[in-house]
Amino acid sequence: MQKRVEQVVIKELCYPNWAVAELDNKNIKIKNALPEQVVNIMLKKRKRKQGNLLSVESAAPYEKEPFCQHFGDCGGCARQTVAYDKQLELKANAVEYLFQENELDIKVKEITPSPINFAYRNKMEYSFGDLEKGGRLNLGMHRVGRFYDVVSIPQCQIVDDDYNIIREAVEDYARKCGLAKFNRNDLSGVMRNLVIRKGKYSGEILIGIATSSSDLFESADFVSSLLDLKLDGKIVGIYHLISDEVADVVKAHPEDKLIYGRDYYNEEILGLKFKVSFHSFFQTNTLGAEILYQKALALINAEDKIVYDLFSGTGTIAQIVASRAKKVYGVEIIADAVEAAKENAKVNNLDNCQFVAGDVFDVLDNLSEKPDVIIVDPPRAGMSSKTVEKIAAYGVEEILYISCNPKTMAANLVQLQELGYRASDCHLVDMYPHTPLVEAIVLLSKLE
Ligand code: SAH
Repeated sequence: MQKRVEQVVIKELCYPNWAVAELDNKNIKIKNALPEQVVNIMLKKRKRKQGNLLSVESAAPYEKEPFCQHFGDCGGCARQTVAYDKQLELKANAVEYLFQENELDIKVKEITPSPINFAYRNKMEYSFGDLEKGGRLNLGMHRVGRFYDVVSIPQCQIVDDDYNIIREAVEDYARKCGLAKFNRNDLSGVMRNLVIRKGKYSGEILIGIATSSSDLFESADFVSSLLDLKLDGKIVGIYHLISDEVADVVKAHPEDKLIYGRDYYNEEILGLKFKVSFHSFFQTNTLGAEILYQKALALINAEDKIVYDLFSGTGTIAQIVASRAKKVYGVEIIADAVEAAKENAKVNNLDNCQFVAGDVFDVLDNLSEKPDVIIVDPPRAGMSSKTVEKIAAYGVEEILYISCNPKTMAANLVQLQELGYRASDCHLVDMYPHTPLVEAIVLLSKLE
């Protein structure tokens, strides 16, 4: 295969992290570079439109020193050499480029910053691993661009200190006990992941430790080592998650055990109370989520209307809109999130919310009351085209699309446009400072 090395200047970004440069009068895309950087890239003959970043020849004039000692090692916070205001500008431009590329005539009207740029996350998922074969056990994040290597991150700044204290204690514990990382090739070893979730308003901490089914892991000992820690918040529950599967994903298994306390933590959003169960989705930036929901719901008129909240998680959006709407139906695939949503609605004294467990595509056939307004907030993969068709077929005046992945949203918007809906503005809310990611809100109206 023929290869060519070239030097180019980055012109702009396409969401999420494609840098666009011009070469021989054509646009090419390179991952992980920034506008105004001069970069050396390698082009492979077969992939003419994409280059691989070899090195950055000169930084962009606006770049500064990274704030984190783990920069360059840890795979998170890739944008930290960019001042926060500039990060916002880059995100807004990158989403506009994405819309243009999809021939969507939608403008980014505004981007709202995260209320806090540090210690903003309410959930962290760490992996056990090492940096070389048989090397010291680490608990942290995957190394930049590596699938298996794990770097320890004692001073992560996008979480508060409780996370760093717990992470370190669990790493020490596993090292002291001589427990090996779980090896996905031969399914040997024990330690897999650590999940920490913490209520921003309540300070309640829920911990999940994922191991293989090996009996080398002593849960009683582990629990007491955690309960001895001096923390700002309070540990309210610890889960032992047990999996021998190859895939490196934390999900519910029948053997999982609650080894301490309860299986949820309390959180608040815009004054409403939420019990968040261990596996339930919850926006990872609580203060950012309050802004996201406020901005989104200000766009629709829900007064006395029947509202569908599709992909409803623990029912946050449904319950915020319920005070104005006649009735809200929430649909969510994770059964325990639906149970939590029902309880939450009771606690919040809302009797006009109904939550249904199942795949949106199937559940829509069983809801007898038709909607006036539909809100969708799908996962990163977006909605399947069959689901989009079903949603459009209701013919409601307004569809409010909230997305954690503007790229898959753009594909869904193209289809909704073909099905008779139009949008003109997009509102962005930055829930993920120092990363390329952003949340998007688009209101679609039905054409006459
Ligand atoms: N609106 C919620 C959750 C959004 S995240 C909030 O703001 O908190 C997307 C949610 O969609 C997750 O809870 C996920 O479990 C759920 N989900 C994913 N695929 C689904 C499907 N096919 N049908 C129903 N829910 C689904």
